[in-house]
Amino acid sequence: MPPSLRAPRGTRDLLPDERAAFARVERIARDLAARYGYRDMETPLFEQAAIFERGIGAATDVVEKELFRVSPSRGEEREAWALRPEATAGICRAYVEHGMQTWPQPVRLSLSGPMFRYDRPQAGRYRQFWQWDVEAIGDAGPAVDAELVELGARFYRDAGLPDVEILLNSIGDAACRPAYLARLVAHYRADGIHLPELERRRLETNPLRLLDSKDPAMAEVNAGAPRITDHLCPACAQHFAAVRAHLDAMGITYRVEPGLVRGLDYYVRTAFEFYRRGEEGQQQALGGGGRYDGLIELLGGKPTAGIGFALGLDRVVLALAAAGTGAPAEAVPVAVVVGADPGNTLDRLRIATDLRGAGLPVRADLAVRKLGRQLEAAVRDGAQFAVILGDELAAGEVQLRDLDGGSQKTVALADLPALLRRKVRAPGAP
Ligand code: AMP
Repeated sequence: MPPSLRAPRGTRDLLPDERAAFARVERIARDLAARYGYRDMETPLFEQAAIFERGIGAATDVVEKELFRVSPSRGEEREAWALRPEATAGICRAYVEHGMQTWPQPVRLSLSGPMFRYDRPQAGRYRQFWQWDVEAIGDAGPAVDAELVELGARFYRDAGLPDVEILLNSIGDAACRPAYLARLVAHYRADGIHLPELERRRLETNPLRLLDSKDPAMAEVNAGAPRITDHLCPACAQHFAAVRAHLDAMGITYRVEPGLVRGLDYYVRTAFEFYRRGEEGQQQALGGGGRYDGLIELLGGKPTAGIGFALGLDRVVLALAAAGTGAPAEAVPVAVVVGADPGNTLDRLRIATDLRGAGLPVRADLAVRKLGRQLEAAVRDGAQFAVILGDELAAGEVQLRDLDGGSQKTVALADLPALLRRKVRAPGAP
């Protein structure tokens, strides 16, 4: 019978193997961020809901349907909070709050951690999921746009997913988007076009979103829609051409995808997404990002350009696991401390503790059981050596048994740390 107490729907426990796979991709992300000059920061897991409503847009799935709202259960505070569904709005709130506009621009920031969306759970779509988020605030581009796209692409390569494609688009700005939207709305209102209920509502509030509708009925209608890249103003067209020129100069291949609009309202100009080859149609982006030159102002700051991306780490770890890679080898103990006297856990723990204090990966057998059983367990643990405590301990000596080769010799306790240190193998080494 399944236990009645379990993790909430859409969340999951990361057991040690999967946690290790996560840690590996987080480490790759952190190292890359540092190499590219993006400095790590944290924001709270919850914020005033208004930050997301304003910063992401009330007429987006993320705010309209997926926001995890939380309110204090008691006390005087009457603030409406929400768990963060993404990192950009919180980072931009922090940029304004801490006066980062006085820092050298652009401010390059990176954050990795859990995000929350009250979405319908399915494979690769969770209510709590992890993102690596990178933002460059205070640079209108286009070179920094290309730098970010290349950084995202490199992350997937380094993580072990070489078949990731870059989809790129420009979604214009306040100068050209209104005229484009008018054309788009006219297209959807044309005779003979039937829109599903949600799309009909969206047409009034956020028509751009119809282009990335998840409804299969929209595929044909969208195929005939006007393309924004055909209607960019000269400044946006020039920006887009320059982003592409910078990517070309770095030898980065990408595909221009005019239907790519991103789900969040604050994007202008550059928008991009990363997909595994062949999975573009499946709403399973590995990550995405774009330019949000109006966002800082929306959150109370001075007009400030910005661009960023968020890469979903769950989907990377899942893809790696499906390929049978990505889980780093478990750290094996160099030695297990065992003893001839089953009941003497005191000396076993004391000596293991001293060896750990000397920086060595050592376990102690703390079960009250015969030496033979302790040695069997040490072999099962994958340890290279058993440190066997016996009568010699009174003279400051122990037996050191090589569990691979079977040889055994008497060594002074004082010599043990140096001796074992020479034997420590890197995890995964033969
Ligand atoms: P978005 O901000 O929606 O573009 O999300 C950026 C990336 O985060 C996506 O490409 C996904 O890889 C990941 N992501 C978004 N929502 C979820 C979710 N509910 N579960 C797992 N990963 C997600």
